[in-house]
Amino acid sequence: MPLSHPPLPEVDHWAPARDIVARFATTAPRYTSYPTAPHFREDAPWEAIHAAWAKADGPLGVYAHVPYCERRCLYCGCHVQIARDRALGETYVDDLLAELDVLGRHTDLHRQLEVVALGGGTPTWLARPDLERLVQGLRARLQPSEDCEWSIEIDPRSIDATEAAFVRALGFGRISLGVQDLDPDVLAAIGRPQTAAQVEAVAAAFAGMPLNFDLMYGLPRQTEASIRRTVRQAVGLGATRFAVFGYAHVPWMRTHQRGMERFGLPDDQARLGLMLAAREALLESGYVAVGLDHYALPTDSLAVAAEQGRLGRNFMGYSDRAEVDLLGIGVSAIGGVGETFTANAREVRTWREAVHAGRVSWERGLLREPEDARRGWVIMRLMCDLAADKAAYRDRFDRDFDADFDAARATLRPLVEAGLCIDDEQSVRVAGEGWLVARNIAAAFDRHLGAAGARYSRTV
Ligand code: SF4
Repeated sequence: MPLSHPPLPEVDHWAPARDIVARFATTAPRYTSYPTAPHFREDAPWEAIHAAWAKADGPLGVYAHVPYCERRCLYCGCHVQIARDRALGETYVDDLLAELDVLGRHTDLHRQLEVVALGGGTPTWLARPDLERLVQGLRARLQPSEDCEWSIEIDPRSIDATEAAFVRALGFGRISLGVQDLDPDVLAAIGRPQTAAQVEAVAAAFAGMPLNFDLMYGLPRQTEASIRRTVRQAVGLGATRFAVFGYAHVPWMRTHQRGMERFGLPDDQARLGLMLAAREALLESGYVAVGLDHYALPTDSLAVAAEQGRLGRNFMGYSDRAEVDLLGIGVSAIGGVGETFTANAREVRTWREAVHAGRVSWERGLLREPEDARRGWVIMRLMCDLAADKAAYRDRFDRDFDADFDAARATLRPLVEAGLCIDDEQSVRVAGEGWLVARNIAAAFDRHLGAAGARYSRTV
């Protein structure tokens, strides 16, 4: 008679992570600024903001927002205009450059330019002559340093090999490919008709260059196996860096997202499994974790900056050049100069009217108070280094960390007791698997969060 064994219990690979997330993860901002954008105000102290712009003399960065896309992806949460008529791009580029001229009346543009980023929307929606005019116009108005980083977001469906060669020739040195997923079933469900061949062709056209891939987890039809396949395929295409973001389902704000609901969206537990599966596949492939949601080859500039404690964060996300005065041009662009933040008009018509009248198009803004500058430093260190060093705080602000953040440290106590955070003489830092709730650890230092916390996305 054959021996019968009791069935082996199924091992849940992610059980410890599930427990941490279930106990401690709530909603929290992504902290691309502190205070965060919902706290910018229409009745900001505009005179003081202008005075700060006039005084600013640090290195510069420019973010140019191109809002146009040919068709809308169902998961899209960005501020986009769907348009097929490329002629719109001609006037849009004119207005972007005119806006930079307007900003030049409020702050010195002849400072060292360290970073230029074109994002959207789809910057490569612009016709070639318009893209070229934009780049030339930026060069003519600004003083790029020798190693100024020029980066551009590219929808792999929007260009072919000839256009990719054109983008290279314009001087872009970092390419960010919005890929999201490579599985045909997932792509069909999210309304993004994109083939692996398209992505392969564009990646091949940029071979040898720093190449970011943006991936997304939490989409319909994704499985842990499918997301691992996507990661491995993307690794094979030569990505030097990955950003892995969670999909935010907010159909009350973005009604088109309802179009995906019929395919079923993964619940919180499934989302966590997808995120961890992608992370595991990336770490196994030789990438290192940078910040909370980026992965990079150890030779990539972001990984090097993280290793050297130079990783920063601003409206463009993680950066090795975040310590710049960032000018945002284009509809809905956000800027950060000195202790000020400014948000451009969200409607093209309003934005254009302001630019044509020779005015800044700022709709909302903020002048950071000293206490928020200190809290912002702690939050950004936690988001970037997963640690806020108390001696560095004292050196920078000439104040005592423990005394300043008594209440925040009390809030962190349950996380400290659970072994997810350490608060000792040296620093407050993330410990063990605490990276899963690092945004919650950072949020303990946010004095504005309050009831607004519910407005933010879940931290996993
Ligand atoms: S390409 Fe990007 S910005 Fe454009 S609709 Fe799709 S997700 Fe949104």
